[in-house]
Amino acid sequence: MPIYEYECMSCRAAFQRLVMKKEEEPDVRCPKCGSEEIKRLISRVHHHASEEDRLAAYDPKAAKEDRFFRDSRNIGLAAKKRAREMGVDLGQGFEEKLEKLRTDPGSVIRDSE
Ligand SMILES: [Zn+2]
Repeated sequence: MPIYEYECMSCRAAFQRLVMKKEEEPDVRCPKCGSEEIKRLISRVHHHASEEDRLAAYDPKAAKEDRFFRDSRNIGLAAKKRAREMGVDLGQGFEEKLEKLRTDPGSVIRDSE
């Protein structure tokens, strides 16, 4: 679930808001002065993105920046996206292997030797 950070253009207050649905966003107002003139600070969105959001945003055909590959949370995203598109259930074993890859890549290599 994305948490967005906003800045009020009237009083400069910064605040966060959990946005469940895109349609809810126009209703966001400054909690301090009630102004609707707010600006979303894009930078924080990535930080809070859940795997669901990552999967939704992931485009297999798009060029990836180095940042993408350095982020261990993106490991396995391609396989998951593809499996979902094909309606394949990768199962719990895959999930566990992914978690290992993300947290302790060395162990996966040792296991397969
Ligand atoms: Zn304000």
